[in-house]
Amino acid sequence: MDNNCIFCKIISGEFPSHKVYEDDDILAFLDITPVNPGHTLVVPKQHYCDLLNLPEDLACKIVSVIKKITPAILAGVGTDNFNLGLNNGKKAGQAVDHFHWHIMPRFEDDGYELWHGREYKAGEAEEVLEKIILK
Ligand code: AMP
Ligand code: ZN
Repeated sequence: MDNNCIFCKIISGEFPSHKVYEDDDILAFLDITPVNPGHTLVVPKQHYCDLLNLPEDLACKIVSVIKKITPAILAGVGTDNFNLGLNNGKKAGQAVDHFHWHIMPRFEDDGYELWHGREYKAGEAEEVLEKIILK
């Protein structure tokens, strides 16, 4: 538990939330400012700040929960498409420092925009690949 963390306070019951799912390790609740109705946050009950320090077993459990609850969320709001979002770190838009996935139901012409990509310049992709060293 991190005393400054809003999601830890939701998990402990100090702050209210609209619970979608709960088990011993994981909680899912409605995002307070949804992209679309049914936008759900899935969090580990223990405080981990991001994906890279989340233990492997918990990372797997969260994905299982996402697979389990997403069909019900989508059926509930009347769609079969969704985005799964993970903002990892401040520069990537992470506002709450407690690891979470976003499940965002999508509708035709709902106005939500994906990222805008750009093409690599000649040789740039090869240059980048050379710097990615897996250990
Ligand atoms: P991120 O930018 O990925 O860290 O997303 C944080 C999300 O948490 C935002 O979509 C917020 O709307 C949501 N949020 C913040 N406070 C609450 C809260 N008290 N209950 C539900 N969702 C919240
Ligand atoms: Zn927390």
